[in-house]
Amino acid sequence: MIVMKFGGTSVGSREAVERTVGIVRGRLQERPVVVVSAMSKVTDMLYAISDALEAGDKDAADLALAELRQKHLETAAALLPSDPIWREEAYSRISDICDSLQNFADEVIGGHLEMDKRRKAIIDSKGEYLSSNMICCYMNSVGIRTEWVDAREFMLTDNDYLQGVPDMHEIERRCPKVIDAAFAAAEAVITQGFVCKTADGSEGVLGRGGSDYSASIIGMAIDASRIEIWTDVDGVQSADPRKVSNTRRISRISFEEAAEMAAYGAKVLHPKTIEPAVSKNIPVMVLNSMNPDGQGTVILQSAFIEDGVRSVSSKENIRLVRVSQPVMTAVSELLTATFAALAESRVKVDLVKVTPRELLFTTDSTDYIAAAAQRISAFAKVSVEDGYAQISVIGKNISELKLALKAASAQLRNSPLASVAQNDSYVNISFVVPRAGVREDVQKIHTYLFGREER
Ligand code: ADP
Ligand code: ASP
Ligand code: MG
Repeated sequence: MIVMKFGGTSVGSREAVERTVGIVRGRLQERPVVVVSAMSKVTDMLYAISDALEAGDKDAADLALAELRQKHLETAAALLPSDPIWREEAYSRISDICDSLQNFADEVIGGHLEMDKRRKAIIDSKGEYLSSNMICCYMNSVGIRTEWVDAREFMLTDNDYLQGVPDMHEIERRCPKVIDAAFAAAEAVITQGFVCKTADGSEGVLGRGGSDYSASIIGMAIDASRIEIWTDVDGVQSADPRKVSNTRRISRISFEEAAEMAAYGAKVLHPKTIEPAVSKNIPVMVLNSMNPDGQGTVILQSAFIEDGVRSVSSKENIRLVRVSQPVMTAVSELLTATFAALAESRVKVDLVKVTPRELLFTTDSTDYIAAAAQRISAFAKVSVEDGYAQISVIGKNISELKLALKAASAQLRNSPLASVAQNDSYVNISFVVPRAGVREDVQKIHTYLFGREER
């Protein structure tokens, strides 16, 4: 079996769905489990509906709900012009989901339900149910015997409704049974990315961009021979092609490098995607559904990857936190107390630098950092500074390439922070720079490392 995950743009229109299903048709011998995202922009619409409901804005919510229904009905009509049976089936499935959303919205507006995280997640996850049902009908109509599976039968998490943490053990126990049963009478199985069922039985989601993670978890659970992530670029590139010119496709990259790229800002993969695949050593491919014959990128064990610089990525919205103590105490005590406070507040730390006087770290947490700072202020002086970005250069054995990177950092403006939070792990060296000029900085470093010539 293989897992094939298709992102929002790969299922974002009639043409895209047709192309995507053509790609699946070419892989039927390998028994594909197709994992789909919501059509592009749909999850944004659903988040906007939740926000409108929270604000009690009935008109905005109704307008967006009508748009959502129309988008899916129109796409289904375009996909199924001459198959009344499957067209009606698709209409009915889409209408049921949209009706349940509308009822839910009416209850909230009528004051019978309060919006909270649990209810937000119920709304936010509907995009994947709409797309997977619509595509399932289309696949059957074009002669691919396809079984629709509800990912919530196996994708179990803790009780974090909007950022569910998967219970891998339970998923590994349930998922193969559900998928095997679905294949009993089908050539392909289709299910949803992003969605999960929380421990208290509610309808949760894994967090934005989480369908990649779903695909990798499913691949791990069913021991897939390959996980394919189909998106809108020719594989993983040396930088985000939407922000940097002259990027190159990376043909092979190690699990560690890919994980680090994703964790340090490369949106092409959800940061947690690699973990489950690594645990079973399953190759992950990143491919372009608009260019299915392209070679894409294969993500493999490090042993198959040569040393070298792979990519430059950035996080454009981070906070720099400085913690110091007025009285000299052991740095270790300051560190212990600070990290305990961060863990209690669920703040994820990216880069850390310790000097004799202070501890500096960066984080992209926005929700929890204020609470953490409050806790830290009980025992130390703390400041949270906005206005910074983080640039990371990723590559295998990059510490061997320090000289080149020193030169790369000299490309940055003379900022007191350019050298503050350097972190040279096995595959990553990062810089903190003022946010205002980060795009130019990334371009400069990329040009320095990869040259100017056109692809
Ligand atoms: P999908 O909807 O298929 O999940 P995403 O928009 O989440 O697609 O991810 C694909 C996008 O990731 C690309 O269009 C590109 O702009 C962005 N991206 C960021 N960094 C990289 C990179 N290093 N290589 C390729 N794409 C990247
Ligand atoms: N549809 C979800 C999102 O837009 C999940 C995904 O596309 O990966 O975040
Ligand atoms: Mg994505």
